[in-house]
Amino acid sequence: MQLQGIHHISAITGDAQRNLDFYTRVLGLRLVAKTVNQDDPSVYHLFYADEEGHAGSEMTFFEYPHAIPGRPGAGMVHRIVWRVGSSEALDFWAERLDLLEVPVTREAGAGSVRFSDPEGLDHELVVNTTGDAPLAAEHPEIPQAHALQGFEGVRAYAHDPAQSGALLERILGAEKTGEATWTLRGDARGGWIAYDPAPEERGRQSGGSVHHVAWGTNVAEHPRWQERFEEAGLPTSGIIDRTYFKSIYFREPSGVLFEIADDAPGFTIDSPVEELGRKIILPPQLEDRREQLEARLTPLADPRAGWAAKA
Ligand code: ZN
Repeated sequence: MQLQGIHHISAITGDAQRNLDFYTRVLGLRLVAKTVNQDDPSVYHLFYADEEGHAGSEMTFFEYPHAIPGRPGAGMVHRIVWRVGSSEALDFWAERLDLLEVPVTREAGAGSVRFSDPEGLDHELVVNTTGDAPLAAEHPEIPQAHALQGFEGVRAYAHDPAQSGALLERILGAEKTGEATWTLRGDARGGWIAYDPAPEERGRQSGGSVHHVAWGTNVAEHPRWQERFEEAGLPTSGIIDRTYFKSIYFREPSGVLFEIADDAPGFTIDSPVEELGRKIILPPQLEDRREQLEARLTPLADPRAGWAAKA
């Protein structure tokens, strides 16, 4: 039983429109689902991903309107690492982000491009050397060969990464692949978490900070993970039905909130692939409150609305 790398990463935004603009127009991801936070249906839960909304590429945001900027501290993810296809793709992104006035850091010889989203969430692009299938979205200004290809890993802050490593290795089946890096790899995909020394200042989970990281599994094995956690005495949320997948949440010893998410049924439960992200989708139990809920949400334009005219 092996976890399939990162399934999705969920973060917080204080400004849904600016967030949508950055992740779709600038980074070229596809808005694959516009839904509501199931724990607070008055706010959005936005999902950006590859063209078909595959696990391994889903970056999601809970909207807390006007949330003050967050700050990563101990027990929080502070950087999201994405794959691209080649060093030419890194050149493309360095140039594109610069043109779009997104400050870029490119360390000589480092083989990566670093930047932050408008709320200060750090991202890094690296060349995909894994052989895992690229998970890319279409965008009129971004050649397919240069598009983001899904998650490589996350970097978190910890005071004592060895404690996290023990859980990652003994319970989650991770392999230690660096000084403070652990990789979770299944038969289809892999991904890693690396720990960096935590700053002294306490973190603040708010706009531009990561809420949790989900590791992927499949429908058949999902309940067996819960059994394994129970046997290990690890406190979890139990299995929660998130409509698009089932989830188990728990905190790893450094404090990062982990989730185990299965691979079914995905976003096409609501819409055919070509219509993903167009209308607000609600879990069945909220459908009868649609009118009332939609009236409270910030209107968001379809990021692909102008595409035909541009082409
Ligand atoms: Zn999640």
